[in-house]
Amino acid sequence: IERTLSIIKPDATKRNLTGKIVAKFEDAGLRVVASKRIALTTATAGEFYAEHKERGFYGELVAYMASEPVVVQVLEGENAIAKNREVMGATDPAAAAEGTIRKEFALSKGENSVHGSDSPASAAREIAFFFSGLELV
Ligand code: ATP
Ligand code: MG
Repeated sequence: IERTLSIIKPDATKRNLTGKIVAKFEDAGLRVVASKRIALTTATAGEFYAEHKERGFYGELVAYMASEPVVVQVLEGENAIAKNREVMGATDPAAAAEGTIRKEFALSKGENSVHGSDSPASAAREIAFFFSGLELV
């Protein structure tokens, strides 16, 4: 059994899509084991996305992630990291497969509705970034 960190991004929380997105994860066999709605600052968003610091879209990404509250969740299941990314679909909604969250809901490559950890190491870092041991049961 594996855990991954999921973020429902500002474009989705703003359009009241949290429940529809969570339903897609649950339908795929993932379980929400921790969940909260938080407002990222540009400082916390910048630290979270530090790996993208040198990319041209970094400033835009950080400002966007701090523009509205987000919902951060820990999802658990068999192969949760890969399964979550499969349900999300490709980064660019134009390239995302039919039935995926990004195909259905994302507005653009930047405003793409969801984030999911991309490896066991990033899942461990990202879960610890948002949740304390007491919140993880
Ligand atoms: P995420 O990490 O959010 O799950 P991802 O792994 O599919 O998505 P990354 O390459 O890690 O994509 O990029 C992180 C995020 O940065 C993307 O989800 C998107 O919001 C934003 N992003 C990526 N590429 C671009 C781009 N070319 N223009 C604008 N924003 C971008
Ligand atoms: Mg990524």
